Amino acid sequence: MTAFKQLQQHAKQISHFNHLAAICGWDQAAMMPAGGNQARSEAMAALSVHIHQLQTQPQLTEWYAQAETETLTDTDSAALREMKRQWQQATILPEALVQAKSLAGSKCEHAWRTQRGSNDWHGYEKNWAEVVKLSREEAQIRAEATGLSCYDAMLDIYEPGVTSTSLDTLFGDVKQWLPQMINSALEKQQQQRCIEPSGVFPAAQQKALGQSIMQLLQFDFNHGRLDESVHPFCGGVPQDVRITTRYSESEFVQSLMGIVHETGHARYEQGLPKLLAGQPAGEARSMGIHESQSLFFEMQLGRSAPFIEHLANNAHQHFSGQDSKLLSADNFQALYTKVERGFIRVDADELTYPAHVILRYEIERDLINGAVDHKDIPELWDSKMQQYLGLSTAGNFKDGCMQDIHWTDGAFGYFPSYTLGAMYAAQFMAAMQQTIDVDAAVRSGDLTPIFVWLEQHIWSKGSLLTTDQLVKQATGETLNANHFKAHLAARYL
Ligand SMILES: [Zn+2]
Repeated sequence: MTAFKQLQQHAKQISHFNHLAAICGWDQAAMMPAGGNQARSEAMAALSVHIHQLQTQPQLTEWYAQAETETLTDTDSAALREMKRQWQQATILPEALVQAKSLAGSKCEHAWRTQRGSNDWHGYEKNWAEVVKLSREEAQIRAEATGLSCYDAMLDIYEPGVTSTSLDTLFGDVKQWLPQMINSALEKQQQQRCIEPSGVFPAAQQKALGQSIMQLLQFDFNHGRLDESVHPFCGGVPQDVRITTRYSESEFVQSLMGIVHETGHARYEQGLPKLLAGQPAGEARSMGIHESQSLFFEMQLGRSAPFIEHLANNAHQHFSGQDSKLLSADNFQALYTKVERGFIRVDADELTYPAHVILRYEIERDLINGAVDHKDIPELWDSKMQQYLGLSTAGNFKDGCMQDIHWTDGAFGYFPSYTLGAMYAAQFMAAMQQTIDVDAAVRSGDLTPIFVWLEQHIWSKGSLLTTDQLVKQATGETLNANHFKAHLAARYL
């Protein structure tokens, strides 16, 4: 057997264990009774040790060296590149560092849960100092191995090929026009009145409504399901995708659009190339491309006028007896495009969201590259928040740099993916509209042409192409943020 074939079999083996880990993780978040947590966590830790051992077996070094001398088709070369990439990610860090970072991260995260409520930056900062120190060590090792700068080596984990030089250009441009666009949108919305839902919207009815929209979006219920969890996510494996949402019975707006978002992630997973199942080349291209699919569903399709009509009509059917003005398409449109300057990223609307991402990107870039000290973050946060959103977080740590869980365990480098995803989504829509009447398809209730386009250009490609190649083949050009700007201007101005 060739070394390449041996590597493929080995990758398949690893994917089986990853499959089980994904379903166990879903079960832990969505189904498991609380008392099962301790034993489950231990079992999952043992499973992840086993997976890591498989990923780092000594004979792999030789197989990779051998495989690179073998004659391979284009598809197999791409498959080898992606397998090797995952192998390098798994072997690059010394075990002692992985363990130290995991311990420091858990300690910081655990304490953060109470420190955030009491706005205790000084307590938090003591734990976080260690997380930042170890993250910088990690970045240094990754930088030496890849030849990238420290922060770019962290970016590379989530967005292979994207560098801070390219992000500085992209985001630098957004910073020029976004604050003014937010001002204008707010001015325009001053006259707008929208009715906020109040009252009881039973979870069972919300679920039925969500499922009717998943049907419209052609989610494959034979290969996936919808459940509930505290933090909504899309998990499982392409053959069995698990999405979750969270219902608040006092309103339905959040859970409904949350389901549309996760369905976008899910359809990408369900559409990945079946022939490459269990191979790294058959997986999603990057976090940014994954997010481009959820945001394509949530922002490009989900907030378009004909889709809003479907949402309103279906809501009427599921919430009979509710105020018909509340459930009108006009009110849905107003609710789902309301712009507000706020402190909290996860609550931000489509238009102010990029400001939150750019702020974090700039701070974590400088933090990991060593240009700023972790102690300077609150002040930096405040000054950027004033600059981009006109809000001050001076002394308000809990709504500033302590608002998210993400930095507590040293997950640096992936915030940019959110805004890259929004930009790719706008570009995909612009390209699709050149050959498909998207609004007409949505209005007809048969969205098939839209999904055929996404399947052909994005989903079926897995990771065979680089991100740049994928985007260029799909749209005729590499990432161009003008599409995003045009989309926002058309919707909000
Ligand atoms: Zn998402």
